[in-house]
Amino acid sequence: MTTILITGANKGIGFEAARQLIAVGHTVYIGSRDGERGRRAAEQLGARMVQLDVTDDASVAAAAKTIDADGGLDVLINNAGVQAEMSDGKVTIGAAEVTADVMRETFETNVFGTVRVTHAFLPLLQRSAAPVIVNVSSALASLTLVTTPGTRRYDYLGVAYPASKTAVNVLTVQYAKAFPNIRINSVEPGFTGTDLNQGAGHQTVEQGAEIIVRMAQVNPDGPTGGYFAASGPLPW
Ligand code: NAP
Repeated sequence: MTTILITGANKGIGFEAARQLIAVGHTVYIGSRDGERGRRAAEQLGARMVQLDVTDDASVAAAAKTIDADGGLDVLINNAGVQAEMSDGKVTIGAAEVTADVMRETFETNVFGTVRVTHAFLPLLQRSAAPVIVNVSSALASLTLVTTPGTRRYDYLGVAYPASKTAVNVLTVQYAKAFPNIRINSVEPGFTGTDLNQGAGHQTVEQGAEIIVRMAQVNPDGPTGGYFAASGPLPW
């Protein structure tokens, strides 16, 4: 029996990943920063729920204590994310507008949140027979793609969100080297219609969740320290 925690799973791609992982028989905790939104989502899914704000030490520590007391954790999916630079499906905060505050706000959730949650749950994962971490990144994290003219990633003009996801990718690489017994990978869901982009994405959440679900179930002899989309490995 595999026990999985997905942060920011009260809606969007995380919610759909929870649905798919429950459908194949896993025990899934959805993390939600808002208890009521989380309870409603968990009820719909038949999931367990923990209140978990990735920007809040006390909330993350309490969630780790609860899941530890319930029997531990095998798979952590760092999915919670924000994209403050986009509204109405368009980038409104580009290089001319970005400030340290916008960067800080974005990194607080996407990067520091990933570290905060990973740090808190590492002792639980270390007790699992087949521990896994999935860091939900983005193709916008790829320095290769954002420097390749003629691609949608090159044309994306935001700064804070791609920078935060590139930082997530280096977290994946460094954690994977530090913990060879844990499968730790970054994944790119693809441009998916959710509240993150005001529905502008062209994929469904079913498509977006696919690579998350696949890498959450990676075998102990499967890849680690990698960066994957549904179609295969991505260039860093
Ligand atoms: P979404 O529908 O906006 O969902 C984001 C989730 O993160 C929500 O549950 C949100 O909770 C939660 N969240 C935000 N800040 C949080 C915090 N401080 N603590 C805990 N939860 C928090 O967006 P999505 O598209 O499903 O995004 C999921 C992940 O996929 C993100 O990491 C995103 O960067 C990544 N991604 C998305 C796309 C895409 O095209 N959609 C592409 C590449 C990567 P609330 O409901 O409380 O706000």
